[in-house]
Amino acid sequence: MTYDAIVVGSGMTGGWAAKELTEKGLKTLVLEAGPPTLPERDYVEHVPSWEMKFRGMGHRRRLQEDQPIQSTCYACDEWSAKFFVSDKENPYTTEAGKPFSWIRGRQVGGRSIMWGRQVYRWSDLDFEANLREGIAIDWPIRYADLAPWYDYVEDFIGISGEALGLSHLPDSRFLPAMKLNCAEVVVQHAIAKHFGAERLLTIGRAAVLTTPHRGRAACHYCGPCERGCITRSYFSSVNATLPAAQQTSRMTLRPNSVVHSVSFDPKSRRAIGVRVIDAGTHRWLEFQGKVIFLCASALESARILLNSTTAEFPNGLANSSGELGHNLMDHVKGGGATAIIPGNENHVVIGRRPNGIYVPRFRNVKTNQKEFLRGYGFEGGGHREGWQRGILQTGFGTDFKRSLSQPGPWRFSFQGYGECLPSHANYVELDKEKVDAWGIPVLKIHCAWGDNERAIRTDMAATAAEMLASAGARRIQPFIDDDPPGFSIHEMGTARMGRDPKSSVLNSFNQAHDVKNLFVTDGAAMVSSSCVNPSLTYMALTARACDYAVRQMKNGEL
Ligand SMILES: Cc1cc2nc3c(=O)[nH]c(=O)nc-3n(C[C@H](O)[C@H](O)[C@H](O)COP(=O)(O)OP(=O)(O)OC[C@H]3O[C@@H](n4cnc5c(N)ncnc54)[C@H](O)[C@@H]3O)c2cc1C
Ligand code: SF4
Repeated sequence: MTYDAIVVGSGMTGGWAAKELTEKGLKTLVLEAGPPTLPERDYVEHVPSWEMKFRGMGHRRRLQEDQPIQSTCYACDEWSAKFFVSDKENPYTTEAGKPFSWIRGRQVGGRSIMWGRQVYRWSDLDFEANLREGIAIDWPIRYADLAPWYDYVEDFIGISGEALGLSHLPDSRFLPAMKLNCAEVVVQHAIAKHFGAERLLTIGRAAVLTTPHRGRAACHYCGPCERGCITRSYFSSVNATLPAAQQTSRMTLRPNSVVHSVSFDPKSRRAIGVRVIDAGTHRWLEFQGKVIFLCASALESARILLNSTTAEFPNGLANSSGELGHNLMDHVKGGGATAIIPGNENHVVIGRRPNGIYVPRFRNVKTNQKEFLRGYGFEGGGHREGWQRGILQTGFGTDFKRSLSQPGPWRFSFQGYGECLPSHANYVELDKEKVDAWGIPVLKIHCAWGDNERAIRTDMAATAAEMLASAGARRIQPFIDDDPPGFSIHEMGTARMGRDPKSSVLNSFNQAHDVKNLFVTDGAAMVSSSCVNPSLTYMALTARACDYAVRQMKNGEL
């Protein structure tokens, strides 16, 4: 049987492709490398630590052996480790002295299960930056091309947040915003007073429902969203897009299907299907489709194409430009500051708000920064210190124990997320000497921060500290951590869009220049990185590409 469409991957972007293509009438096969996810069996957000074997501290030996890279991610704990890949089964290599943290999920839902749910629109400050500065290539689209698709995606997923009217961080279609806590209000007012129109603090924009929305319940603030959400209150493909696709009866979802490569017919110059290895039996299978959507994540989609060699494309399918695998980016983080905000000791928070604060980019927006191009935003927030507050509270005996049963002072932290410049020198290739558990060649990743990213990180620490000082904070500790690329989990750029087939892999609709019925709609398509979290833009690009592909098919052009 030939499917109308094959979607590879069922995470953030694969879920959107599945929903859009099936709703537009296409019989769609969704191939997912990992096992099924059953919310009633697999979601564990309400399991208390005393019911966990290691009381929430994790099976350290197992993690060290099987997930040494994944377990460095804050969200990979004793509950949610099962949503992260086995590093043993899914290895990759890096160049000496250039570490890269590749944090992945391999199950139905991909990383949309464990993500942080922060969602921000891009603006023309981002889309025009490469052109303005003569860096890499120009984006083939502008904000106006994507704005209706942001609207479309946001209407479906539900985003809570505060409208600010900023041109460089356009407002989404918001559900009611979550509330700041009192320490955050103190810092918000101080920033408004001391930094005038330049900087502001707002509540994070989050794909978490504050009111019931399209059959999904409002969030009840239980807190650990990376473990799943039985009330489907945050957006994931398992919670929202895959059920919508299922409802059309046009989706065939095949878990445990590891896509090796895309098959190409040189006569028609079309992709005709995909080669798959069954994850359980290791048997080879082949599926045919009229149109192929790669949504396996930026690096995995590049890997599939690099593994899809033909006589015409010896260096990877759709790679006549030679850009496939290149221009790898991630957001630079690791710069910020933390401090104690005095006062408000009679206030506590009720519930665990699954969201923090956001300070939109303020560098190189209206002014010119000499030290670096582009900019960064801050995530973070305020909380009462717990009983582990260490050096902040010393003592001895009964009184000390009693004092620890009370919440500590208010702590506030800023964590910067900065833009990374695209560079041809940051790239992935196939490692000819290593294969994964299914015998598929793995990636060798070559990626390092440049001077611009390092300068951004240094500035983050300085501006975070000065904002805390303006709020009368005590014990201000600026930090500049040496987080490697990949650790922001926003990897992108390995099959970039562009107008010219000589310098880009995809056109402005995520369609491969060289193979018309092949689309790549995950982060691989990005031409620059902005400083805001990218998944909302991936989803909007995916919905837009699906609309285009179906129109092309209906017009007989595909
Ligand atoms: C802890 C954490 C916090 C995050 N926070 C945020 C945030 O706040 N905001 C934000 O914008 N982003 C955030 N992200 C990043 C976000 O999760 C990703 O940008 C997003 O999931 C990418 O979507 P995707 O569809 O490309 O990939 P994924 O969601 O990773 O899905 C890819 C799917 O493809 C499957 N696959 C891979 N290879 C193959 C193959 N060969 N054959 C078949 N299937 C395959 C995988 O198993 C997976 O299910 C976070 C990620 C993590 C882990
Ligand atoms: S905090 Fe809200 S969104 Fe997160 S798991 Fe709990 S109910 Fe779901």
